[in-house]
Amino acid sequence: MPYAYDDQNIFARILRGEIPNDTVLETEHTLAFNDIQPQAPVHVLVIPRGPYVCYDHFAAEASEAEIVDFVRATAEICRMTGVGPGDGGDGYRVVANTGKNGVQDVPHFHLHILGGRLLGPMLPKT
Ligand code: 5GP
Repeated sequence: MPYAYDDQNIFARILRGEIPNDTVLETEHTLAFNDIQPQAPVHVLVIPRGPYVCYDHFAAEASEAEIVDFVRATAEICRMTGVGPGDGGDGYRVVANTGKNGVQDVPHFHLHILGGRLLGPMLPKT
């Protein structure tokens, strides 16, 4: 089944400037902003400007320019927020919740960059 993008999702509205955001970084193909309900001292959402639903959609269909821009933007955010080990930071976690089992709430591909504290186990025990 093809990916169906809902252009009324909240991140699409942020990209169109209909809803404000606390921007961390803007590039040609990427926008990063602070999560409205942060779960760690650093909690940045990184989104492509293009209409991709999830990680595998982006990975399969985005142009090389979009992918390179997005990946380099994540590196810049790690540097800017001080979490990257290459800049003396204590590390971070990147999360891409996807679909029903991944408990994705907003259907526009995004990475969570989380850091600034010890994050604990990757998943809660069930
Ligand atoms: P998901 O569960 O889809 O991976 O995560 C969606 C994230 O978007 C959540 O962490 C939530 O707090 C965040 N979020 C939802 N609405 C808004 C908003 O209007 N502005 C910002 N900055 N973050 C939002």
